[in-house]
Amino acid sequence: MKVYADNAATTKMSPTAISAMVAVMENDFGNPSSLYSIGQSAKEVLEQARSDIAAVINADPQEILFTSGGSEADNQALRSAAEIGRKKGKKHIISTPFEHHAILHTLNKLEQEGYEVTLLPVHEEGIVRIEELEAAIREDTCLVTIMFANNEIGTVQPIAEIGEVCHKHGVLFHTDAVQAAGHLPIDVKAMHIDMLSSSAHKYHGPKGVGFLYARKGIALTNLIEGGAQEKGKRAGTENVPGIAAMAAALKEAAGHMTENARHQSALRDRLIKGLSEIPHSALNGDAVHRLPGNVNFCFEGIEGESLLLLLDDRGISASSGSACTSGSLDPSHVLLSIGRVHDVAHGSLRLTLGEDITEEEVDYLIRNVQEVVDYLRSFSPFWRDLEDGKRPHIL
Ligand SMILES: *Cc1c(COP(=O)(O)O)cnc(C)c1O
Repeated sequence: MKVYADNAATTKMSPTAISAMVAVMENDFGNPSSLYSIGQSAKEVLEQARSDIAAVINADPQEILFTSGGSEADNQALRSAAEIGRKKGKKHIISTPFEHHAILHTLNKLEQEGYEVTLLPVHEEGIVRIEELEAAIREDTCLVTIMFANNEIGTVQPIAEIGEVCHKHGVLFHTDAVQAAGHLPIDVKAMHIDMLSSSAHKYHGPKGVGFLYARKGIALTNLIEGGAQEKGKRAGTENVPGIAAMAAALKEAAGHMTENARHQSALRDRLIKGLSEIPHSALNGDAVHRLPGNVNFCFEGIEGESLLLLLDDRGISASSGSACTSGSLDPSHVLLSIGRVHDVAHGSLRLTLGEDITEEEVDYLIRNVQEVVDYLRSFSPFWRDLEDGKRPHIL
């Protein structure tokens, strides 16, 4: 059996998105900036995509800016808010320690440029507390950027409440909704969202294309200078086939959102129950306020990379929190932010289910993870120390 359980990393393109993309490549190859009809027809594809996407998140079409993906949208949102703040003498930004690196690394750069950044605690459950956000807002706060749903542990933030507090204090609110778009309902007006990032390949669209929603009246700062595309805010000939496919994928995902979420979350909970039976294991992040397809566990006495390789041998594509780079094992910043200690954070496993996941596949995942964890523990000196009482169990 083969089970692709890494949908938070990327998703398989849907047939609808593929045919939308191919149709544009075959029929609408023109440059949308050209005045003749072939160009204008490509322009129509672009504007139809803009209004289809806007409709899904209750925005106006002019508020949607096409980008090369989630990372670019995050960078542009933060740079724009920082520039707006600077002009008013406001150089304080509030965020969380478990954002995607597209946010965290941009915040690091802004700190080097003289901005001050406050990272709110996300606690054991992986959720920010509204009263702590409100207490952190200052006179000179120009931006709050908090992700809609976390890409590793899947926890979903109280976005509407966060937006309400920001607007009560006159602060801009950006959310990285890359994991949420196409999976959870989004209403930028009701949720008081000023800017929002999204990426097509996280909801069965193509890679290398995304969008930034920016509320009317927000002056965007360019990351890319050149032609006058996207109202002069993002130069470069538009990725028309990719944009058309993104709109098709988002429309499709939004159309089946309720039934998909019901199906996925039932199987997610079956998987959580099955993996909880492994001794000295723990679910990471809140069990209820989480993405319908996200399961993330820590297993004591295990090394995440070995687990992944052995699962791959059994046809399972999964992900671990720790990234092994040039011999140094850095545990995930997300797991550390919810208070997991280094040793435990190393033994993490993320399984992110697709909409078409079946009960048989979930049972296959449970059985194989249980077997591989047992096997790895059977020759782990670290595990023997735990079992011999030389080290205390943490989980
Ligand atoms: C995948 C992801 C991104 C980056 O999106 P790209 O389109 O791959 O650049 C940003 N934020 C989150 C939360 C993500 O999951």
